[in-house]
Amino acid sequence: MEKTDILSLSLEELEQLLIAAGEKKFRAKQIFQWLHVKRVMNFDKMTDISVQLRQHLKENFCINGLFMQKRLESAIDNTVKYLYRLSDGNFVETVLMDYNYGKSICVSTQVGCKMGCNFCASAIAGFVRSLEPSEILMQIYETERDAGTRVSGVVLMGIGEPLDNFDNVLKFLSLLSDKNGNNLSLRHVALSTCGIVPRIYKLADMKLQLTLSVSLHSPYNDKRSEIMPVNRTYNIDELMKACRYYIDKTGRRITFEYAVIDNVNSSDKDADRLAALLRGMNCHVNLIPVNRVKERNYKTARSGVADFAKRLGQRGINATVRRTLGSDIEAACGQLRRDAGSKGGTDN
Ligand code: SAH
Repeated sequence: MEKTDILSLSLEELEQLLIAAGEKKFRAKQIFQWLHVKRVMNFDKMTDISVQLRQHLKENFCINGLFMQKRLESAIDNTVKYLYRLSDGNFVETVLMDYNYGKSICVSTQVGCKMGCNFCASAIAGFVRSLEPSEILMQIYETERDAGTRVSGVVLMGIGEPLDNFDNVLKFLSLLSDKNGNNLSLRHVALSTCGIVPRIYKLADMKLQLTLSVSLHSPYNDKRSEIMPVNRTYNIDELMKACRYYIDKTGRRITFEYAVIDNVNSSDKDADRLAALLRGMNCHVNLIPVNRVKERNYKTARSGVADFAKRLGQRGINATVRRTLGSDIEAACGQLRRDAGSKGGTDN
């Protein structure tokens, strides 16, 4: 019989399973706290639990651990990139960022990605599978253990499309914020999507307090469809309608991610159209210089991002320029995993 992945279970689910095994309900909370508060990932070390119950746990449950394959620390800004190996031999990346208000962590939600954005290293490497809630959570627990500190913010902006792994991502969010467990407010969490419209509606209806980031990258359908195939299914009008709905339902401001690419999306005309699209919306634009991937010739001129921010400002749209962190440790997102895969790893 396959063992149950205990770190993916809610407290209620663990209670049900223990009650069914003839145990007392409160045992579940003890175990849940060993895992999610004390971070003890070994049933034998859960000392306030009977030997008999520990034996039952060992026989019926597993702790889905991650193994640190690689760790790269930036000499410039304290950013640390981790390559974690999952229990089935696949790899994911996690990035720990040091801001002046605290540490923030960027986690992956899938091994690879199906969305096919043509400027993204993760898409170029292809899709393997979605992550379990425990595998998303353990990226945080392992990184916090390594860094010897707790993070104050979490962003779902690593490899994968979170809304393409909807149920597991939601389960992860509820574990992350569980008052009996890790207890991080979702106000400190941002989820980034390429724009899977029906899932944005679904998420809006849940009225979570997280920040939704939407990767826009062009205000024109023809251009956006060229660089982000998801736009062929859900175009900009539909996406904007869903974003407005999200803002109405949750009362939260949306962030639009925009990678500035020379000769693709940063002309005066782009600024005009983007400003028209966003005018009056409770939103914020985050400009990023495009990370180079070796398959593409995309680049951002040194002054490109600041120029585009200025253009938007002149049109009444506030945009911030995202700091580039960890520029000395292995280029764009997705590249560590891809390199590991090509060295006899697990890429298809
Ligand atoms: N799938 C989600 C989250 C993962 S990517 C999404 O699409 O939003 C996180 C962010 O990095 C997205 O805004 C994505 O468009 C951006 N990104 C991916 N590759 C990039 C690159 N080469 N340069 C700059 N930003 C990139």
